[in-house]
Amino acid sequence: MKYVLVTGGVVSGLGKGVTASSVGVLLQECGLRVTAIKIDPYLNTDAGTMSPLEHGEVFVLDDGGEVDLDLGNYERFLDIKLTRDNNITTGKIYQYVLEKERKGDYLGKTVQVVPHITDAIQEWIERVAHIPVDGKSGPADVCVIELGGTIGDIESMSFIEALGQFSYRVGAGNFCLIHVSLVPVLSVVGEQKTKPTQHSVRGLRSLGLTPDILACRSTTALEENVKGKLSQFCQVPAENIVTLHDVSNIWQIPLLLREQRAHEAIFKVLKLNGRAQEPSLKEWTSRADVHDKLHEPVRIAVVGKYTDLSDSYLSVLKALVHSSVHWRKKLFVDWIPASDLEEATKRENPDSFKAAWKLLKGADGVLVPGGFGDRGVEGKILAAKYSRENRIPFLGICLGMQVAVIEFARSVLGVQDANSTEFDPNAKNPYVIFMPEGSTTHMGGTMRLGSRRTYFQVNDCKSAKLYGCKKFIDERHRHRYEVNPDLVAKLENAGLSFTGKDETGRRMEIVELPNHPFYIGVQFHPEFKSRPGKPSPLFSGLIAAACGQLDGVLQEASKGAGTEICTARVFQNKIPKKSAFGSRDYVYGSCNGLRF
Ligand code: GLN
Repeated sequence: MKYVLVTGGVVSGLGKGVTASSVGVLLQECGLRVTAIKIDPYLNTDAGTMSPLEHGEVFVLDDGGEVDLDLGNYERFLDIKLTRDNNITTGKIYQYVLEKERKGDYLGKTVQVVPHITDAIQEWIERVAHIPVDGKSGPADVCVIELGGTIGDIESMSFIEALGQFSYRVGAGNFCLIHVSLVPVLSVVGEQKTKPTQHSVRGLRSLGLTPDILACRSTTALEENVKGKLSQFCQVPAENIVTLHDVSNIWQIPLLLREQRAHEAIFKVLKLNGRAQEPSLKEWTSRADVHDKLHEPVRIAVVGKYTDLSDSYLSVLKALVHSSVHWRKKLFVDWIPASDLEEATKRENPDSFKAAWKLLKGADGVLVPGGFGDRGVEGKILAAKYSRENRIPFLGICLGMQVAVIEFARSVLGVQDANSTEFDPNAKNPYVIFMPEGSTTHMGGTMRLGSRRTYFQVNDCKSAKLYGCKKFIDERHRHRYEVNPDLVAKLENAGLSFTGKDETGRRMEIVELPNHPFYIGVQFHPEFKSRPGKPSPLFSGLIAAACGQLDGVLQEASKGAGTEICTARVFQNKIPKKSAFGSRDYVYGSCNGLRF
């Protein structure tokens, strides 16, 4: 097993995660099997209890792990499936060590950060690195480890110490350190400044780690003399210094690394030269090019609670990008704070109210993502109502499905006070209720989490067709509440159709409005399994419907009903071939540069 450690210096938010994922892609394209570990030095046991406004979305894995969003980057870039143990936090390590201490495993010794915590970190890394994540048997060839935070943070000290010991333990030729740093350009003189990088490398060395490769973030490519200076002062060979300058989309990063022969530098450090295979990156190249040439717009309104930070909905955004690129459409995401759609905002802040409704009314499709707590729920219900009544394509995810059901009960069944017990514990008409297996007192890891099976109830519905007329699908979950099974018959009699249920038939997984162009709600989170080149079927359906192209796709799909249709093939046939692409500008929401 070879290890590539990615650290960050100078400032946070440099795109370390994307850099580490791109290094993984490059190595994969060289013919190696790659796995990944993310270290988050915070004290939380996992990301599950953190607000998305803290560190971005909580990503959910097949095994129910609630983890840092960077694991989503790894899964998407490397097309792998990680486990909860691939995300290490200080909380997890201390919990493990303290449990051992309580059991008496340390045989009377004083339990200390060094060696007990540092040993536990090293054992954890070694153990997890050997778990196969790509569906093949046996461990991967290379494990990419990303250390969160910035060199010098007090929180990460025990990890730095452990990694220093680890690099010595695995020996030269088995460990490669890539340090991602910032080379700012001073606007007055337009000069690329190396001092911050010099300082952060000095900091790294003083902690016992020596960088093999420098990945320098800058607005433009590094000038040769700047590289020379960095090489001399940081004692890193010039050919091991790569520039990660701003690019139009993240799929360009693996290409940028290859262009600068980063794989050769890594292979030299890891003594893998015999195994080097020229990385073709064929799909990556074409995807990145297609992405930059898109010009026909598709406008999706995302009505959520955490719209101030688009990282809060990172996987949703990614899934929308995968699908829009697939359909050769240029995606524009309009982030709408759900509460701005509400009557109270009309009174208190009429401009925001007007702006929110203008965006909603201008959208080709509406998406209500998952969420917790009652802020903005009424706004989400209004968005669902607007989409239903005006026949606008609508996808509701988790809470988005629950609000669609509540809205239907209120507007169509006339049950004015229909609600979820999450928002009104004493609701007289609880259309969404607490699930018995959840917990109201302990928030961490107590939801219905991870991969669960959904069985289609009929073949002749949009969701089943989009998924290729399979009997069942496995998607990831993260919820405490569910549609009240006792009220399902009432809803169905009024025209809602529950087209997907769990194995008991009591838990609703998919709801559709058959007489609507595209109105689907799902209790699971399809965004977590969407991949570039393999978009999630429901997101693809939403974008296709938003572009008025859904009928063709469904017709094609239903021809193969009852058999296992390869959705990807169906979609590929329908991609309009374009030769002349227009504008090169690239905008979606507020995401630019490396942080996608
Ligand atoms: N708050 C809702 C529940 O717990 C929805 C959760 C979600 O959207 N992830 O069921």
